[in-house]
Amino acid sequence: MNLIHAYNKVQRDFTLNFNRLSTGPLDFSLVWHLAIETVKQHGRGNLLAIAAGQWGNICAGQSSNKIRGCDQHGCGRYNAPRSGLTHKGVDVVCTDGSAVYAPFTGKIDKQAKPYGNGNAIDNGIQMSGEGFCIKMFYIKPIKYSGAVKKGEKIGVLLPMQSVYRGITSHVHIQNCDLTNPTSNL
Ligand SMILES: [Zn+2]
Repeated sequence: MNLIHAYNKVQRDFTLNFNRLSTGPLDFSLVWHLAIETVKQHGRGNLLAIAAGQWGNICAGQSSNKIRGCDQHGCGRYNAPRSGLTHKGVDVVCTDGSAVYAPFTGKIDKQAKPYGNGNAIDNGIQMSGEGFCIKMFYIKPIKYSGAVKKGEKIGVLLPMQSVYRGITSHVHIQNCDLTNPTSNL
């Protein structure tokens, strides 16, 4: 758990309690203080262990969230080159037709499409919760709104091989603010 994660957690817990009690606005300096204390308590050794893999498993048939390496269509890591641009997400290895799971508990906000061209893999969702907001592309969603629990099936991987033959099929995940999501995997 790094400081930002601790802050998000403390703020979330506080917001829930404050809403229940319907008292005044949040004291953000207190939230920061508690977040710092939380991180201190965990100790430095544990911080890295907790920070890695806080999202749940994303693809059925994969024992962990593995980032796509490089193939003839490109590389899966954050900031990999993409035809003059950079890849502002991570590609999590998955096979066509596999079930895809919610990486954290929250809600599906809306449909989110990677291209908008209507091709066979042009679908996905945006979801948020636990201080995260992400877009997940190349899946056929079960629904486009409503609550989801971590590990709940939210869709299946679309037929990526039919569009990019030979690619390492994957779910593309990006943070809504386009920051690097790798440490959450
Ligand atoms: Zn990608």
